Amino acid sequence: MTQECIFCKIAAKEVPVSVIYEDKDIIAFPDMTPAAPVHVLIIPKKHIANLLEIAPDDISLMGHVLATIPKIADQLGLAKDGFRLVVNTKENGGQTVNHLHWHMLGGKIMTWPPG
Ligand code: AMP
Ligand code: ZN
Repeated sequence: MTQECIFCKIAAKEVPVSVIYEDKDIIAFPDMTPAAPVHVLIIPKKHIANLLEIAPDDISLMGHVLATIPKIADQLGLAKDGFRLVVNTKENGGQTVNHLHWHMLGGKIMTWPPG
């Protein structure tokens, strides 16, 4: 837990969110500024700043996040028509919260390319 990390605070239940999915390693909650009709953030509870900071010890955690995606998509009603997963990384990727997270976006046909 890093002291000023908002997502660590969410994982520690110091900042309340509407929990979409949770287990001992992961929590998913709605993005407060939705960019699509369904916009959920999926985070590891462990503080990892971004994709570039994944350590060998995190590999099974990363597998667990990906293996949980179908369950969350199903729960949100996104499995039939699909969705987009986004991991913004550092400044050029548009990352604003330095705690690794996956955006799950759906409920409409997403456009490509992103800006
Ligand atoms: P990124 O720009 O990829 O780092 O994404 C960070 C996302 O976190 C943004 O889409 C924000 O709207 C969202 N966000 C920041 N703080 C909160 C919060 N307290 N609860 C829910 N979403 C948040
Ligand atoms: Zn954090």
